[in-house]
Amino acid sequence: MLKAVKVRLYPTTEQQEALAKSFGCARWYWNYALNACIQHYEETGKSLKLNVYKAYLPQLKVEHPWLKEDCYSAVLQCVAINLNKAYSNFFEGRAKFPKFKSKHHEQSIQYPQNVKVVGDCLEIPKIGVVKAVLHRPIEGKVKTVTISKTPTDKYFASILLIGDGEVGFVSGNKTLGIDLGLKDFAIVHDGEEVTKHSNPKHLKRHEKNLARKHKKFTRKVKGSNSRNKYKKLVAKVHERVSNSRQDFLHKLSRKLVDESQIIVVENLHIKGMVRNRKLSKSISDVGWGMFVNFLDYKLKAKDGQLIEIGRFFPSSKTCSCCGHVVDELTLDIREWHCPKCEIHHDRDGNAALNIRKEGLRILQNNGGGNPVIADRGCVRPPTRKGKGQRSMKSEAHTVPDFLRCWVVHP
Ligand SMILES: [Zn+2]
Repeated sequence: MLKAVKVRLYPTTEQQEALAKSFGCARWYWNYALNACIQHYEETGKSLKLNVYKAYLPQLKVEHPWLKEDCYSAVLQCVAINLNKAYSNFFEGRAKFPKFKSKHHEQSIQYPQNVKVVGDCLEIPKIGVVKAVLHRPIEGKVKTVTISKTPTDKYFASILLIGDGEVGFVSGNKTLGIDLGLKDFAIVHDGEEVTKHSNPKHLKRHEKNLARKHKKFTRKVKGSNSRNKYKKLVAKVHERVSNSRQDFLHKLSRKLVDESQIIVVENLHIKGMVRNRKLSKSISDVGWGMFVNFLDYKLKAKDGQLIEIGRFFPSSKTCSCCGHVVDELTLDIREWHCPKCEIHHDRDGNAALNIRKEGLRILQNNGGGNPVIADRGCVRPPTRKGKGQRSMKSEAHTVPDFLRCWVVHP
């Protein structure tokens, strides 16, 4: 089982200089190889193979001796492998086209081997013994170590460990249905009761501060010291926002995973939603995608299962008691009455319960095995081919609700 631990590093001034040189070499070779790939494609229409640009290295080290002196050679090998990965992520639709690296953004290098944990320190080839804060014991065999420097000048090491799988898991056995939203971040139904977790709106809490610093930054003369100072201040606010978001998502996902064995969520089409300008900020800030990823890997680690149900499943409009589906349920209706069985529903609790039920149904149909992503085969009406942004005029509470409203159910 693989496990990652991220620790803060405190390199000395000399070590910082050595790291800067290594970052520089890795960046230079990435840009060189990427450029070669692009040129090769323009000339031949074919992509350059990993082995080809890896084989440039010996010659490049002769032409540019600093490449050999300043950087551990395995780090450069890693750059080649990562570029190859970036290309396949692009071709398989998981990522955008690889970018040239700039010295103004986060810097990182990867060591595939030979980094050792010595007491409270990390022994890194070409850099030396660097002081680290190990907030938890490093157990298991070190696989790779990635050293990074943030735009706010902090150093970190992400240590990937091969563990022996013996981790103390808390093993609840509930099945949870989760409805994700913007007002409440997560509405959780365990089959008996509903729990609502409100949306902390991390960005909103820092918005004024961020706007003020960003305005000052843009008004400074380019290249001036004060511009650099404000650039760092802006980066610091972004860092704080992203840290508090991750902290919230980690804590909530840990709590839910500890309680359960199976978690059911809706498959949200986040990329499509973010294109909507009015909502994009809130949707990016809320971090649903990251949350579902956290749930997934935490469940996998304890042999649990995450089930994603089709995003056109009418979770809000279905009565969780009798299964009746109402024709319309506008977003402002928070509570409703089922015309068939006369039960009164709270909109969100009902949706979360339906998500849970649908997940269990899929699981039974699959005999408990994978794969778990299911779409109910609903079709979009041909008159609305657009991506839907234009019709998102109402003050939507959750986007999935909106997506459901132009779906024809068989
Ligand atoms: Zn009913």
